[in-house]
Amino acid sequence: MTSGELIYEGKAKKVFHSDEPGVVIVEFKDDATAFNGEKKGQITDKGIANAAISARLFQVLESQGIATHFREQLDARHLVVDWLEMVPLEVVVRNRVAGSLEKRIGLKEGTVLEQPVVELYFKNDQLGDPLLNDDHIRVLGLADPDVLHQLRTQSGTANAILQNFFGQRDLILVDFKLEFGLRHGQLVLGDEISPDTCRLWDGKTLKKLDKDRFRRDLGGVEDAYHEVLERVLS
Ligand code: UDP
Repeated sequence: MTSGELIYEGKAKKVFHSDEPGVVIVEFKDDATAFNGEKKGQITDKGIANAAISARLFQVLESQGIATHFREQLDARHLVVDWLEMVPLEVVVRNRVAGSLEKRIGLKEGTVLEQPVVELYFKNDQLGDPLLNDDHIRVLGLADPDVLHQLRTQSGTANAILQNFFGQRDLILVDFKLEFGLRHGQLVLGDEISPDTCRLWDGKTLKKLDKDRFRRDLGGVEDAYHEVLERVLS
């Protein structure tokens, strides 16, 4: 499998053609952004950590019945994945209060939610990725009711699997974001699952081991990504 022409460059990843139709190669960069691109920086070897973490988590989910775009890890920074026609929604699943939920509903960071909260955001940089309800999604024609239902159920199942996986490694899955796409009409999990897209806290100390260290200038960012990598691969 060799990498071809660049198709797309995002904030944290590049996507290249491969030599097989319908299959693309994702490169994980060290670039980090926050607050809708207002804060920019680099996290040394983040791309290496996120590629390996994502690969492992996709394998775990796939082995437990969630269809994902993952095929194989090509090298330290590159994953081979199926090309998906992406649904322009971000699905956020939350087990504890943090980030924007803290601001929205006013409960203290870390408060355990009685049941997971699922939110759907419109992937639209110009609008600043607003939170949408089902009516918004319907009038914008972003997902059919059946796809919307599957987005919710698959995200809920993924949450249960990932909470269990991280829990076994003494990590609390506070919240995370998933993106889905269609492959031959089937809804499939795409994008990445990493400390860029998950909030992960140490089970004992509650130390933040994710991108919040970068967002909030907490220091020790590289060490946090490395710590998650080691635990995920253990
Ligand atoms: N998230 C993400 N990409 C985004 C927005 C959020 O990966 O564009 C992740 C984020 O890392 C966290 C979860 O989704 O794990 C919930 O994020 P939140 O809505 O609290 O927003 P934030 O505080 O990141 O602005």
